[in-house]
Amino acid sequence: ERYLTRRVLSMQESQTMKISGLAKQMKAEGKDIISLSAGEPDFPTPDFVAEAGIDAIKAGFTRYTANAGIPELKKAIVEKFKRDNGLDVTPDQIIVSNGGKQTLANTLLALCEEGDEVIIPAPFWVSFPEMVRLSGAEPVIVPTTIDSGYKMKPEQLEAAITERTKVLILNSPSNPSGAVYSENEVRALMAVLEGREIFVISDEMYDQIVYGPVTPFSPARVSGMRDWVIISNGVSKTYSMTGWRIGFLAGPKWLIDACGKIQSQTTSNANSIAQKAAVAALTGDQRIIEERRLEFEKRRDYMYKALNEIPGITATLPDGAFYIFPSIAGLLGKSFGGKEMNSSADVAEYLLVDHYVATVPGEAFGAPENLRLSYAASIGELEEAVGRISKAFE
Ligand code: PLP
Repeated sequence: ERYLTRRVLSMQESQTMKISGLAKQMKAEGKDIISLSAGEPDFPTPDFVAEAGIDAIKAGFTRYTANAGIPELKKAIVEKFKRDNGLDVTPDQIIVSNGGKQTLANTLLALCEEGDEVIIPAPFWVSFPEMVRLSGAEPVIVPTTIDSGYKMKPEQLEAAITERTKVLILNSPSNPSGAVYSENEVRALMAVLEGREIFVISDEMYDQIVYGPVTPFSPARVSGMRDWVIISNGVSKTYSMTGWRIGFLAGPKWLIDACGKIQSQTTSNANSIAQKAAVAALTGDQRIIEERRLEFEKRRDYMYKALNEIPGITATLPDGAFYIFPSIAGLLGKSFGGKEMNSSADVAEYLLVDHYVATVPGEAFGAPENLRLSYAASIGELEEAVGRISKAFE
């Protein structure tokens, strides 16, 4: 291990992967685990999308493609941004990568290095600070609370900025909190940044999984910020395509070209077959997305009500994504089943080991008094899980 670089030693292993690994292992041992720890829809990839992949294989579309993605897919992405996000982008402002993860890693590697600071509001998606560390820059975490709905206020952003600030990472709808910044909230944050040479990486991975009344608003729509906003998105969550590994990035051409340079020397193009499937997903009948969204909404409503009935647990109503992120502050310092709950990691471990419910402790997201539960599971499973959780804290 002493041969490892500072770069990799500064990173932590993905906590969400760790817990779901333990849950999988317990499942394999025959234990009746309900897993609410996964970060992916429980629905299958839509048939018409999978078929486009099969067709691509049969047609021999199995070779290297253009590094930044096939023109057909870039065109579909241009149309998606117009249709769903009210944004005009050109194909040369887009790159297709191996999942949203690679678009974010490429962007941070292109923009950040030692000496730079990247502002990340907490709770945050687990990979943001680790990718920032990988780039050599330093994450600057801005904590938020339940009172602001886990959203950063403009004053907090202002206070976090130094002359070393290079990037702000915004993720709306948020994994893990489900919070969505309204148009006014986005405008207020962008007003702080205007004219200050600070980039915004806007992770909009869950833009199509929203329940209202707040609708997502891309910071790229703020006219003065147009050249400073980079949007990361993908087909993973919207189209239940997590295993296909297709993400895309939109931003200034010079930055997209730099991401292309990194990608061309590390991974090359995203999977050719998956690119064809992504074209089908983005251009096909979008009704299935609406059906799934409505199903998620029912589950969200159930989880919000049921979890808030458990003493010690307080949940905010998520406006998007498929996670609920209750505060479990009311359970800390108490003992259940002979075990003392001193952290959300203790709570998650107790729920998994003693009650067979897998969740993710908030520590992983920079929010040590919360617990993330994914409601990408059937209502039946959710009811069973809530029953177990409620029994665990009787
Ligand atoms: N961004 C956020 C906020 C996510 O939750 C995820 C997946 O968990 C990703 C990006 C990465 O998505 P992909 O699977 O396309 O790499």
